[in-house]
Amino acid sequence: MSATDDDKVLIIPCSGIGKAFGSVGREAMYMVAEELRPDKTETLCLSLLTLGDEEAKDRVRNHPVITIDGCGQACSELNVKGVGGRSEANFRVIDTYREHRELKVNSVLHLGEAGRKLARILAEQVASQVDAIKRKEDMLRG
Ligand code: SF4
Repeated sequence: MSATDDDKVLIIPCSGIGKAFGSVGREAMYMVAEELRPDKTETLCLSLLTLGDEEAKDRVRNHPVITIDGCGQACSELNVKGVGGRSEANFRVIDTYREHRELKVNSVLHLGEAGRKLARILAEQVASQVDAIKRKEDMLRG
C-alpha cells in the first residue's frame, strides 16, 4: 500500500449480475480506476459490505465514495449509506442510457461497441466527479 492510498476515492459499482446495465457500470468503474484516474481512485467489492466485513465498512466510512448503480434500485448507494459510508455521489447507468438511447446494450457478457461507448460516457462523468471531490478536499485542507 502506498502513502497515497488513504487519499483515494472509492468507486463502488453494484453487483448487477445478470443485468446489462450492471455490466456497463462495472466497465465504467474499471475505466476510471485503471485508465482515467488510477492515482486518485480504487474500488471495493460491494459484496464485502453486504457480508458485513469490518475492514470494508471502515474503508467506506473513511474515504469519499462514488457509487455506480445499474438501475433505480440503487443497491450500491443504499448499502454504502446503510453502513454509514461517505457517499459523495451516485451515478445510475439507466440515467446515462436515457440521455443516449441510441446506445442499446443487448448482452450482459458482451457489451459491444454501444455498451462500451455508454460505459465511456459514464466513466468520464465519474472521473469529473472524482476531480471535484479532490478539489473540495484540497480547499478544505487549505
Ligand atoms: S442497482 Fe439494479 S442492476 Fe444494480 S444490483 Fe441493484 S437491481 Fe441489479
